[in-house]
Formats: sequence, C-alpha cells, structure tokens
Amino acid sequence: MNIHEYQAKQIFADFGIPVQNGKIIENAENAISAAKEIGGKSWVVKAQIHAGGRGKGGGVKFAKDLEAVGKYAHEILGMNLVTHQTGPEGKLVQKVYIVEAVDIKEEYYLSILLDRATEMPVIIASAEGGMDIEKVAAEMPEKIVKIQINPLIGFRSFHGRMIAKTFGLNADLTKKVTNLVASLYQIYVQKDANMIEVNPLVLTDDDEFIALDAKVGFDDNAMFKHKEIAAMRDFDEEEPTELEADKYGLSYVKLDGNVGCVVNGAGLAMSTMDIVKHENGEPANFLDVGGKATAETVAKSFEIILKDPNVKAIFVNIFGGIVRCDRIANGILEATQKINVNVPLVIRLDGTNAKEASEILKKANIQNIITAESMSDGAKKVVAAARG
Ligand code: GDP
Ligand code: MN
Repeated sequence: MNIHEYQAKQIFADFGIPVQNGKIIENAENAISAAKEIGGKSWVVKAQIHAGGRGKGGGVKFAKDLEAVGKYAHEILGMNLVTHQTGPEGKLVQKVYIVEAVDIKEEYYLSILLDRATEMPVIIASAEGGMDIEKVAAEMPEKIVKIQINPLIGFRSFHGRMIAKTFGLNADLTKKVTNLVASLYQIYVQKDANMIEVNPLVLTDDDEFIALDAKVGFDDNAMFKHKEIAAMRDFDEEEPTELEADKYGLSYVKLDGNVGCVVNGAGLAMSTMDIVKHENGEPANFLDVGGKATAETVAKSFEIILKDPNVKAIFVNIFGGIVRCDRIANGILEATQKINVNVPLVIRLDGTNAKEASEILKKANIQNIITAESMSDGAKKVVAAARG
C-alpha cells in the first residue's frame, strides 16, 4: 500500500524528522488562505498523486507570492498529470499540498528498501539528490552506496558515518544525518514499511536537513496492525478493476499482454503466466480466484478480465482439489450465458472429476470454448487463439 507525500510527511514529523509546514487542499479557492496560514514568503504547490517525477511533469511549482500560489493551485488541481511513473494515461490530481518553500544548499538521495537477495533492509544513499535515481544508477553507479542493515542489530551510528561520508559532511552534520536516518529506520521497522524514499533530502542555508519529498510504501499483509496507516489508503489512486476484484475475493493484477488468465491458487497463477510467456504469449493479468472457484467467481473473473480491451483470449487453468472440476465446468457454462464472452476460452481443468468436466464442456458444444488436455497444451492453444 502506498500513501501520498503529505501523509508520509505526517509520519516523518511524528518521528521527529524535519519537514516543511504545509496544508492540503482540494479546492483551489482555499489556496491563498492556506498559504497565509502556513506563513513564510514563498511556497511550493505540489500535486498529490502516487507517482514520482511530478516536478518534470508540471505538478510541482515554486510560487514566489500569494498570487502565484492561487494561480498554480488552479492549474494543478484537476489536471491530468503525466510523469514517467504514471504511464501515458496520467493521473487526475485531486489534492494539492502547499508548503513553505525552503532555500536549498545541497540535495541528497536517501532510501530504505528490502533487499531480497540478502534478505535485509538496505539503505541507499547518494550525493546526487533531486535527480532520477535510476539515471544515476545507470550513468554513475559509483555515486551510489548501498548499506545492508542486519535486522537483528538495526541501524547504528557507523552506518550513519558511512552515509555522511558519501554525502561529504562535517562532524556536526554527520550527527544530524545519523539521527535523521535512525528515525527513518524506526519508521521502516515499526510501521512495517517496505519502501521509504526521500528524494531530495536537502540541506538548507542554515545547515538543517529537511525531507523535501517523501514516498512510503507498506507491507499490505501488516496493515491490520496499523489502523492509522490503513486509514490513509486512497482508493482514487488504485486500479478500479483491481478494487472491484478485491470485493469478490479475487486477487487480480492488471498487466499489459493480451492473454487473460483465470486460475486457482497463486502458485498455479504464477506458473500459468510463465508458461504463457514460454509459448511467446503475454499475460494480460494475474488472477487467483482463490479457494472459492465457483460459478460466481469465474463469471466475475471473466467480467473483470474483459474490461481490458487488450484481451484477445482467456486461459482458464484450474486444478480441482477441494473444488470439483465438473462444478467448475458447469460454472463456466453458466458464466458464458450470463455475460458475453466474445473471445476464445481455452479451458484446462485437471484434478477431481476432470473427466466429467471435459464431457460437460464437449457436450455443451459452445463455439468459442476450446478444451486443453494439459497446461502446456492450453498455453499453446491460448497463445494461438490470441494471435487470431
Ligand atoms: P517529484 O518531482 O515528484 O520528485 O517532487 P519533489 O517533491 O521532489 O519536487 C521536485 C523538485 O522541486 C525538487 O527536486 C526540488 O528541486 C524542487 N523543490 C521542491 N520543493 C522545493 C522548495 O521548497 N524549494 C526549492 N528551492 N525547490 C523545491
Ligand atoms: Mn522527489
């Protein structure tokens, strides 16, 4: 689960990490009064969407007076913001964060992530802040340091000194940055975050560090422990079809290919995507109907998958363990009567009562249903069907 910059900065402030004063608005008419309340001489007007690169896309504007605050708030609220992370379709801006502007002396990059290879949190630091970190990594990898943190030992001052060395800081600033990163690490652990990124972390003219930007993601499976964070979820930022699937207990993730997949079990769903790719096809989605592979969930899966105009064929790959294949076969037939499945359906049902299922489907003799004998047979057939 991801949250907005303004929400991440609330958490930062709670942990004593310096952030700018700011106010969130949803109506541009309130921009100037918000800026007055914040105080200061100049402000930054920032689009709140769950994507980075807002500045380059025109979603972060420096306002040198109150009039400019009003003007930029009007421009940014309601705009369709396109950044390298939103994809070409962009994101509608529904909230704007107005902050007091700071004078920047230096910009640094700092993040904490889970390094799956070493199974440890890793701190990534670079003196090249404010830039695309992917670009820094590609063009000057020597400017980035990665520091693994043994979770049993946690963040220690020597880690802080390693970061300070990368940033090129004096003794006084080394202490300050160590305290700041120690607090970030506390957030990472205590709140079950899986990503914290501060780009840029800035040093002001009076030698104070401020988190100028903040991006935080959390482990979904831990959100039941953190009601205050779960409450920060912004449904407007999520894929509508994924939310709908969630309501029916389906785990659905939209992808870019043209082969729809309806599968039971996350492991089988993953291997189904693998085998589709192996046959040179591209999956349009990950979909796990879960333990409840019923007529209703199968019908709902078809409905959700068919909302994606890229889908040219659907692969139903279900293993009957607890669920019986004959019931699934009947469910599929029922589903095709309820909703208009206008693409070929390749069906592989294996496990309990697979034979009966195959007979049911053959007897129904529906034109766009193609039965498959095995998973690889199904993958071949569905990729061919998607090609047309
Ligand atoms: P992003 O583009 O989504 O990463 O948004 P950021 O919050 O990082 O803002 C983009 C850029 O705007 C920053 O890298 C800064 O260069 C600039 N910026 C943001 N806030 C301020 C500010 O208070 N003062 C100054 N001088 N520049 C700012
Ligand atoms: Mn940024």
